[in-house]
Amino acid sequence: MEWFRKAKSGIGTLIKKDTPADLWVKCDGCKEVLYRKELAQHLHVCDHCGHHFRIGAAEYVRILVDAGTWFPMDTTLRSVDPLKFVAKKKYKDSIQEAEKKTGAASGVLSGTGKIEGRPVALGVMDFRFIGGSMGSVEGEKIARVFRKALRDKVPAIIVSASGGARMQEGVLSLMQMASTSAEIARMRDAGLPFLSILTNPTMGGVTASFAMLGDVHIAEPGSLIGFAGERVIRETIRQQLPPGFQRAEFLLEKGFVDLIAPRPELKATVARVLGHLYPG
Ligand SMILES: [Zn+2]
Repeated sequence: MEWFRKAKSGIGTLIKKDTPADLWVKCDGCKEVLYRKELAQHLHVCDHCGHHFRIGAAEYVRILVDAGTWFPMDTTLRSVDPLKFVAKKKYKDSIQEAEKKTGAASGVLSGTGKIEGRPVALGVMDFRFIGGSMGSVEGEKIARVFRKALRDKVPAIIVSASGGARMQEGVLSLMQMASTSAEIARMRDAGLPFLSILTNPTMGGVTASFAMLGDVHIAEPGSLIGFAGERVIRETIRQQLPPGFQRAEFLLEKGFVDLIAPRPELKATVARVLGHLYPG
């Protein structure tokens, strides 16, 4: 009781040294508290429930591409603000913040590399860069991945993570849908495969263009994939939507997605599909 009352002088409380907050992370899937270091070793997949945490573009490159084979392309292409767009905040400020957060000049990381020894051209979207939205630069970088694939006669792979078109660039952003789709038509004419990897989330203008034009669509488990959001659809058609609507598993059942690959199996799955489609 002396301790509670602190009646006597000199009775102190041991101060627990604060644990660094970022050492542990709570799983959004099962609420389990996970050790961040261990989570990273599991490629940011919860080992209790299989929840896939969102990861950045550079991490996908590390997961997919053979070590020492990655050559980045167009790293200096940078978004501009053609419409001098201001909404809640200035578009110019959003770009600056995104550049700071990701250390990249745009929302797409692109380059060439090898996947289990097979040369590919690869583009990866980064959701942390203004919600992975597709502006002119992102669209152009993706189009250039296809052009590079055509020049080198190698398969193209795009990893999508996007809320859709970047409304701050208006119609210039929408034009990227046509531009990227046209390159895929050229890939098809040349007989080169395009693998589309869909991660959480892949929505809007990205789904409505290149992300759904793959020869094979591989999704990460639980990914939200769709065009309009669930609420908009529900309110438009005035009907209840089935459970799991717009999730990867639902889309697999309906035939929009060909394969679901958990992240630890992603590289091997991509290599296997490439082996079938483009053994040369
Ligand atoms: Zn979990």
